[in-house]
Amino acid sequence: MGADVIVVGAGPAGATCAYLLARVGINVILLEKAALPRYKPCGGGLTWRALRCLPVEPSDVTEVYAVGGRLAWNGQVVLEKTDNSFVAALVMRDRFDAWLAELAQMAGAHLQDRTPALRIEETPDHVQVETPTGILRARYLVGADGVNSLIARQFRGFSRVTGVALEAEVDVPSRGLETQGPYLTFDFGILPFGYGWIFPKRGHLSVGVFAAHGGRVPDLKRTLERFMGQYAHLAKGQVRLLRGHRIPLGGQRYPLHTRRMLLVGDAANLADAFLGEGISYALWSACLASQALQIGLTDRRADLAAYTRMVQTTLGRELRFAARLGRWVYSHPKRAVNVLVTSPKLQALWLNTLTARQSFTRLILSLPLYLPLVLAQYLQNKPHRQW
Ligand SMILES: Cc1cc2nc3c(=O)[nH]c(=O)nc-3n(C[C@H](O)[C@H](O)[C@H](O)COP(=O)(O)OP(=O)(O)OC[C@H]3O[C@@H](n4cnc5c(N)ncnc54)[C@H](O)[C@@H]3O)c2cc1C
Repeated sequence: MGADVIVVGAGPAGATCAYLLARVGINVILLEKAALPRYKPCGGGLTWRALRCLPVEPSDVTEVYAVGGRLAWNGQVVLEKTDNSFVAALVMRDRFDAWLAELAQMAGAHLQDRTPALRIEETPDHVQVETPTGILRARYLVGADGVNSLIARQFRGFSRVTGVALEAEVDVPSRGLETQGPYLTFDFGILPFGYGWIFPKRGHLSVGVFAAHGGRVPDLKRTLERFMGQYAHLAKGQVRLLRGHRIPLGGQRYPLHTRRMLLVGDAANLADAFLGEGISYALWSACLASQALQIGLTDRRADLAAYTRMVQTTLGRELRFAARLGRWVYSHPKRAVNVLVTSPKLQALWLNTLTARQSFTRLILSLPLYLPLVLAQYLQNKPHRQW
């Protein structure tokens, strides 16, 4: 079977790319190795930017709209913002990803789940994909096959540094859900170079720990147990599912194209090295990839280098700033939290960055402007804070 484009991987990056291409009449095959819907360990937090990049509002698959958050240090809440302003839409990835794949299908993409790409071969005028059911050919191929990407291994010189996250889906009594409310919890005291989170879902809590470290990673299972023990409403919870997964630490510059192939999302290392957020970058890179491919399919002289350039000057820049912020915060996490707790100005900037209403780039570039005010607020409030 032949197509204009084969997309390998039906996560947010691949399904969105397939949707955007199929919508304009391009013949797309979307290959997915798992049977959909499939579980993916993920907090499922969709930021403002993720919602803006999505082709359709995900209200049908949103479990909870988070409207505030708590910042904690080793189980002790040090800052609370529960003023009912939007922070994130929370989804379960099995439903969300299946919904996106269905949108792609409705737009005309040929979805083949339970079909892994086993081997890829690129020739000057086409790409060939071997699957258990036969060989597929297309003019272009999109590698959207996640952090363990088979496609990225074909890219000469491409490598990745990863963090790792462990997530538990936890059933708690309804009183536990009420205690959490529609609010996110982030705890930066639980492990060095990382944090723990509690995200409310419909009827349960997603609880996890993220080690944003390419090197030695602590025992995440014990860290997660310790984390859950620090919160009374989690201590009696039943862990329904426990899964870990790597997260690429983005911010490097690699070519993300060959003559006939592109990488998007986690496969392209496009997740933020500070918080491990990757869905919005997966969606954003899918939009850029679909634009580059539409040009490639209509203009035979066009090459895909424009895609790498577009990524590097937009989201790539953002990921480099996120990595820089991560290095600052994780080298002195307690001091960073302390400064944040004492400075309302910094809290406003941080909240806008966390929800992705404002970019990491803007946060870091605007810090020198606000530094005198932030320091004044820190010095003024410091003596009153004990934690
Ligand atoms: C525990 C955890 C919590 C997270 N929480 C958040 C969060 O709250 N918010 C956020 O924005 N990000 C979060 N992330 C990051 C986010 O999950 C990823 O950045 C995002 O899933 C990337 O999407 P993707 O489409 O690039 O890849 P994936 O979602 O990994 O999708 C890749 C797809 O490719 C398929 N595939 C793989 N190999 C093949 C093959 N050979 N052939 C066919 N198909 C194949 C896989 O089955 C999969 O369906 C979290 C990650 C983890 C691990």
